[in-house]
Amino acid sequence: MSVNGKVIPHTPLAVDFWQVRKCPGTRLFFLSHMHSDHTVGLTSTWSNRPIYCSPTTDTLLRLKLQVKEKWIHPLELDEPYLLPMDDIGKEKLTVTLIEANHCPGSVMFLFEGYFGSILYTGDFRYTPSMLREPCLRTHTTIDVLYLDNTNCDPNRTLPSRQQATQQIKEIIRRHPNHNIVIGLYALGKESLLVELAKEFKTWVEVSFERMQTLKALELPDVFTTEPGAGRIRVVEQSKICSANVHKWDKEQPTLAILPTSRPLVPFHPNVHVVPYSDHSSYQELEDFVSALKPTSLVPIVGNHVPASFSALLPRRKRHEILVPECVRHYMLSQPESQLSSSANTSPRRRQEEDEEEEEEEGADSTVQQAFAKIQTIGPEGPAVVYCPWTMKEMKEVLEHLPEIQQDGDKFAKALLLFCQQLSLTMPEIKKLLTFKIGPTHASHFTALLAGQTGLKKPQWDHADNAPHRNALTDAIKAKFPAKFDMSKIFACKQNAEESVNDYYHRLHQVFNENSGIAKPEGYPTPETGVWEAHLSHTFLNGLAAPISTSVKQTCIGVMDGARLEELRRHAVHAQHRLNEEKVNDDKKRRDRKDKAQLTMVQAVTGWSYQPQGNNRGRGGYRR
Ligand SMILES: [Zn+2]
Repeated sequence: MSVNGKVIPHTPLAVDFWQVRKCPGTRLFFLSHMHSDHTVGLTSTWSNRPIYCSPTTDTLLRLKLQVKEKWIHPLELDEPYLLPMDDIGKEKLTVTLIEANHCPGSVMFLFEGYFGSILYTGDFRYTPSMLREPCLRTHTTIDVLYLDNTNCDPNRTLPSRQQATQQIKEIIRRHPNHNIVIGLYALGKESLLVELAKEFKTWVEVSFERMQTLKALELPDVFTTEPGAGRIRVVEQSKICSANVHKWDKEQPTLAILPTSRPLVPFHPNVHVVPYSDHSSYQELEDFVSALKPTSLVPIVGNHVPASFSALLPRRKRHEILVPECVRHYMLSQPESQLSSSANTSPRRRQEEDEEEEEEEGADSTVQQAFAKIQTIGPEGPAVVYCPWTMKEMKEVLEHLPEIQQDGDKFAKALLLFCQQLSLTMPEIKKLLTFKIGPTHASHFTALLAGQTGLKKPQWDHADNAPHRNALTDAIKAKFPAKFDMSKIFACKQNAEESVNDYYHRLHQVFNENSGIAKPEGYPTPETGVWEAHLSHTFLNGLAAPISTSVKQTCIGVMDGARLEELRRHAVHAQHRLNEEKVNDDKKRRDRKDKAQLTMVQAVTGWSYQPQGNNRGRGGYRR
């Protein structure tokens, strides 16, 4: 099968290219869409290299090729993302995914970095709205345009898809007593099928395998796997051959329709080829290139573009590309050196797992992915890990987040901190949230985590993202208000051996964990708030009885809301005073006891007691 992918020179990037032995310097892999000529070499054993694609392609990639979730990084469309281009976090590129109007999940990639601006169309059907994409509108210069030149033939014209759909409808209308068989690839042209089903009010019969894909795409309910349930049936394009058409027609009058831009000649009177194309026409390509005026153009299919296209390019010389030292190092780094250099900083557990997995999967080890290191929270406190994290690692850390059912506020704060540290994408957050709290709970936040309300900037803590962050926190807090456990707070009393300050701090913690009342930001606040009032009351009643009584007697306004700090000071003072009193009482008691003993001794022996000068306490005894 032909390979319609490219390794981007002078970069660690490749698009739709999966033969890792042929691109040892490639570190970041991008998938434009799920057609098989763009996934040659991509299998379920793919490992150690991140794949970036659209959320729909992510779904299909897992469903159809069983690529492991941990290697796939779905990115939302129309959002700029920063990705590392080295292993020290110095050089980054920005990538923006743009709808390619080709098949479900298909995107174009706009890469921006030290190499300039590269637009990679993948397979695409041009519409003028593409030029209105913010990232393309504001762009003055595209340095390299990788162009889908499938239909780049000046001698061929193609109708729009609407016109082609009309042609198909007319053919079906002209044959009211015929069944219709439509030949398609495994993915694409679903909207045509939906339109035909609605127009002719019939089910569309598909195979079980296609049904799985259609279900994953959440399309309108017009498809069935029940044989003979509808007038329209979909088969693999290769099944439309003379023998089959003849056979079907014998069973029941049947027409075959091939919606394709390939220049096929109908080989049977019942076969209709309609130029319904998911690739741009020559005219559309010309419009697109004239508007973008890229400095250079690279065809994706084969290596030929008509000479007429070079006239569309401006006479601009492309700057020489200097690959930064850190990127060069990243692309050349050897697996061995990466392993040994990370041995001191990476948690051992992770390394062992990675090595085990590699063995399991029999992965190709000629290229090893190196990631930027970041410090973050881990199961055993702060840990140095590699970014981007694998899904598995992120899930591990998630296990240590507070329970959402217990306190939504606390959970939201921890989650947002986690998201910020890892610069997560919205689909990743959605996935992780679903994993952590289960699909039922997560469904409350689906709309918030959907594409349109996604982050405005790649950095989580960017001010433009605040509305989104707040909306998510508020939604979680509202859905899962904190659960109170007042019994734990009431049970928290000052112990006999405990100082007032120790008790104060212990109560503080128990109160914050179980009261469901948040400590106000910037405490102490000018006014006594709910948090302080409740805590003061609990503190006063939890103090040891004599201290509590003393505070109540000595602290003015204790019953009508004295400040917590004032209460604490009074309590500390009361404890000191009570301790001193106790010491004095003890001394007095001891003195009384000594005196009583002495009186007894004198009575028995006739000795006399005289204190000796400066001698303190019990002096010597003398006759
Ligand atoms: Zn395609």
